[in-house]
Amino acid sequence: MEMKKNIANSLAEGYCNSLTQYSRWLTREVTIGDIPMGGHHPIRIQSMTTVDTMDTLGSIEQTIRMVDAGCEYVRITAPSIKEARNLEEIKKGLIARGYNVPLVADIHFTPNAAEVAARIVEKVRINPGNYADKKRFDELTYSDLEYQNELDRIYKKFAPLVKICKEYGTAMRIGTNHGSLSDRIMSHFGDTPEGMVESALEFIRICEDLNYYNLVISMKSSNPLVMVQAYRLLVQKMRAEGMNYPLHLGVTEAGDGEDGRIKSAVGIGTLLEDGLGDTVRVSLTEEPELEAPVAIALVNRYSRRAEQTLPLSEEKIDISPLDKISSDAEAIGAISYSKRESQEVNAFIGGSMVPRVVVDISRRNLKDPFILKDVGYRYDVLLDKYHMGDQSVDFVYLASELPSFTMPGNLKQIYDFTTWQKLNNKNNCHPFFTLEEYNRATEKDLQLNLVLVSNSDFEGDEFANLLLDKTLVFVLETDKEHGMADQRQFFKELVKAGINTPVIIKRSYKVEEFSGPLNDVMSPEEPVSKLQLYAATDVGALMVDGLGDGIWIDSPATSTEKIASASFSILQATRSRISKTEYISCPSCGRTLFDLQETTQLIRSKTSHLKGLKIGIMGCIVNGPGEMADADYGYVGSGPGKITLYRGKEVVKKNVSTPDALGELIEIIREDGKWVDLDD
Ligand code: SF4
Repeated sequence: MEMKKNIANSLAEGYCNSLTQYSRWLTREVTIGDIPMGGHHPIRIQSMTTVDTMDTLGSIEQTIRMVDAGCEYVRITAPSIKEARNLEEIKKGLIARGYNVPLVADIHFTPNAAEVAARIVEKVRINPGNYADKKRFDELTYSDLEYQNELDRIYKKFAPLVKICKEYGTAMRIGTNHGSLSDRIMSHFGDTPEGMVESALEFIRICEDLNYYNLVISMKSSNPLVMVQAYRLLVQKMRAEGMNYPLHLGVTEAGDGEDGRIKSAVGIGTLLEDGLGDTVRVSLTEEPELEAPVAIALVNRYSRRAEQTLPLSEEKIDISPLDKISSDAEAIGAISYSKRESQEVNAFIGGSMVPRVVVDISRRNLKDPFILKDVGYRYDVLLDKYHMGDQSVDFVYLASELPSFTMPGNLKQIYDFTTWQKLNNKNNCHPFFTLEEYNRATEKDLQLNLVLVSNSDFEGDEFANLLLDKTLVFVLETDKEHGMADQRQFFKELVKAGINTPVIIKRSYKVEEFSGPLNDVMSPEEPVSKLQLYAATDVGALMVDGLGDGIWIDSPATSTEKIASASFSILQATRSRISKTEYISCPSCGRTLFDLQETTQLIRSKTSHLKGLKIGIMGCIVNGPGEMADADYGYVGSGPGKITLYRGKEVVKKNVSTPDALGELIEIIREDGKWVDLDD
């Protein structure tokens, strides 16, 4: 018992309460109008308007649609004093219609607008990267004295806002963005998670010095890996400094459709799994009222999740508690990414191979070769051959069903062991064993054997008796509600035991697991699949930690096409396997200079075949070229009807007229030798 208590204390030094049980990190309560955040309050849902803040009626009506969709706070941009003042009109209009939703003013660069807004709305969001800094985007170096002088300068600029917030009871979010760190932070830390955390801490310390604690913190990035690492590091540092401010979770510029949802779920869901997060904003390049249902679907899983102890008790780990948390974090690569080392099997899976995708097709019509189109193999009747692409799955599972057509030569088939044994032609076919079957089998595949395991098997005799040879691949399943942590613990034990067998992460979703219908229809055109969100959370959270050599999502109620597509999107979002073009598009807001949704679709229609390219599409350059930190090319609004084109952070063409901008972007890509002509 005492040991457990010590471990709990030592875990408090880490980035979450527990790596093995669901336990929400208890933050301090923050007052935001009538809807408090943090503490034991539910995880709050919020979003941001996209219409011009000077369009009072438009802002009111959009805010109402967002509240009706589930938003508990609504953020509105205030680029200058004029918009900040208009927040009062918007607020009055909302109250007149019976909507008392807390409003949040979004501030960049304009302390004077913040000081006006803080007297009107319930919360202001400032970006520490650009609140008090006119960024020069230069590679500056600072001596210790110069650095301290900068901090003193920020104090003077920031303190008035803090005092107003104190006086008016206004909350504040210190919202760091990976793409917009100050020159000062960049000079010391680069655009790293450490820099993001320090950027917020500088401002938090000023608030605390002025005895102001009504704070919420965020660490956003368009790269879910960077985002997760930054939040974890933030929590670790806050705990070390005795702070417990609520966390606002979000993946910025996540894009739209399936990719936007999956990228958001990988980042936000990973942190929610660890019990972190007090409010969620999902950023999609779609109408803002479509964001709340996605956030709600992510968050609702935890309102029901019971605290759950996993089978391997902490007492069994024979190391000191303080060592435990650091070695656990190290074993799972929690703060900085490192892939778990595994051996390569059959020159196909594990080692340096990309994670493999398995899809179950055993319930499909196995007399029809055209069904394989859903898993990336298009059958050509005339040529009697299959065409494959970047999203062709690697394995199909057939259980005990035999197809009556010839399978593609490069698609590996998995059969239950007893069926596999009876196959006349075992070429490209591999057996799937239970642990018991594997230990007793007299016939095995010479190349690749898959064995189903779960975390609880680790302690058993069957596992102890396993022959860990160079043909073995684990398929790791879980039936636990807090399944990610259950599977993570298995990985941790493998690492500790020095077992480098590749592992395919398998998650199964029964229809009953989804509350309400499987696909909640959010608008007539846009079905949102909870499967995408759940699988991206559960599997993505492990991939973010470098765990897993393959994924197998099983959901009998979901089409194989959708499962295959979600699998590749999860791998893309975790940067573990790139199979398509990535769009880092902002959700748009009142600063937007063109129609983000339409433009994103247009750019996608011309560039979606450029696998691996990351294209940033931003309504404005509020965060500076750093916003392009994660993109290869950028298409950014620079004025009405004007677009500036970037190559990474470098401006290549300024103020191109909108009709010419896409063509010019393609030319730049072509000049760089990265353009590929599409076949007619
Ligand atoms: S990048 Fe997009 S969401 Fe961000 S401030 Fe500019 S227009 Fe608004």
